[in-house]
Amino acid sequence: SATTAPSSPSYPTQNTSSSSSQTSPTLTSSNLPEAKEEKGFVQTVLDSNPYFSAGFGLMAIGAGLTILRKGTVSGASVLRRQLLVTLEIPSKDKSYLWFLHWMSSQSRNAASLTHASGAEAASAGKKGIFGRLSDRVANKVNQRSQFLAVQTEFKQHDNGSVTTRFNLVPGNGKHLIRYNGSWIQVERTRDAKMMDLSTGAPWETVTLTTLSRDRQVFTALLQEAQKMALLNQEGKTVIYTSWGPEWRPFGQPRKRRVLQSVILDEGVGERVVSDVKEFVKNEKWYADRGIPYRRGYLLYGPPGSGKTSFIQALAGELEYNICILNLSERGLTNDRLNHLLTNLPERSIMLLEDIDAAFAKRDKTQEGFQSMVTFSGLLNALDGVASSEGRIIFMTTNHIEILDAALIRPGRVDLREYVGDATPAQIRKMFKRFYELEDVLAEKFVKSLEGHKVSTAALQGHFVHFKDRPEDACANVAYLTTPHRID
Ligand code: ADP
Repeated sequence: SATTAPSSPSYPTQNTSSSSSQTSPTLTSSNLPEAKEEKGFVQTVLDSNPYFSAGFGLMAIGAGLTILRKGTVSGASVLRRQLLVTLEIPSKDKSYLWFLHWMSSQSRNAASLTHASGAEAASAGKKGIFGRLSDRVANKVNQRSQFLAVQTEFKQHDNGSVTTRFNLVPGNGKHLIRYNGSWIQVERTRDAKMMDLSTGAPWETVTLTTLSRDRQVFTALLQEAQKMALLNQEGKTVIYTSWGPEWRPFGQPRKRRVLQSVILDEGVGERVVSDVKEFVKNEKWYADRGIPYRRGYLLYGPPGSGKTSFIQALAGELEYNICILNLSERGLTNDRLNHLLTNLPERSIMLLEDIDAAFAKRDKTQEGFQSMVTFSGLLNALDGVASSEGRIIFMTTNHIEILDAALIRPGRVDLREYVGDATPAQIRKMFKRFYELEDVLAEKFVKSLEGHKVSTAALQGHFVHFKDRPEDACANVAYLTTPHRID
């Protein structure tokens, strides 16, 4: 038992060793409290460091504010969408100039208008937030409404004199106007980067903003602006010329020429006028038969016989405008010609002057020929799609004999008239137009010109020269008969 006794205490050693071997897991487990301590440190730092907590606080406030701001902005834009209505007029649009001119007529009263805003809004019982807002805007804009831009109109008269008119139109910036009891903010902006390619002018926009409930005011305003512009054209003929790929008014609208002031030979004028009038009112007839709604006319004869003047007077009679195109124009191509002919301004007569010149020139010399229009290009353009409004094309030439038969075949030229030198009947009529009661002198004058070729343009010049002196006009008939005319 003694032997066993000492061995017995070995058990506890073993036990200790075993227990010591059991200590290792206890040692590892002893790391746990340390890890717990680390987490607690971050937490503590976060909790205790004032900078961190302030940062989180600020972030939260920032986020909150952003949401609030976004909410306010979208709320404001919703409100804006609901309450305001905006109309944009780009400078390319026809109504752009109409509107500016209309504004210039209003701008004389602009200062007083914007000034009166507060009182008016209050008296109209619209105080509230809108009344106050409009007052504030009005005050702000009031200073800006003095911002005007000048638009100079330059007009050269037949006698060479020149008149210049300055139109003051609203300049860039914001303006506030009151129209039909509604407030309208007008903002004119210019885009520095964008350009109207056809004119090279900077791209501009006018934006009108008003309350939604007043939206109908835009239509009324634009109609008034248009009416005003048309009033300026009333009784006048607008002459358009090609400007790049588009038609642009050439100078100011001209006073209509009375048809009776162009004295053509018996029946010529009447035949053309009645044909055109018949055509204009027969749109349905053409549509029912599937015939392109267009008609071509050719006036031929020596220069100075009144062809162009007659076409202008005819346009006046029909209340049409005229688009003049010269086929030998530099840079004119088939494509441009086609585009121009298919995009005529409404209610206009197309006038192709001296139709022979373009192609005759080319026959003579290929070099130096600037226009790129080919003969087939012209035929294609003439045969192009007709607008529903009807296309009236007038061509003039001094030399019908050199025109290609294809150009003047029916469908392209439906009516041709010779407009020549003055006949005795024309001479008599013209004399009487200038010297109304001089019947006897008129007969004397007609007789003295018998057998002579005189253009009506030369006659007109003669009568203008001897204005109010019919006797002198008769006595100096040699001025007309001496050959100095260049055909
Ligand atoms: P065309 O086109 O035949 O060359 P215009 O119409 O250009 O002739 O006429 C030139 C000028 O002569 C115009 O000022 C015009 O008023 C005048 N004139 C020519 N013919 C007539 C005419 N038959 N009646 C009235 N004026 C005429």
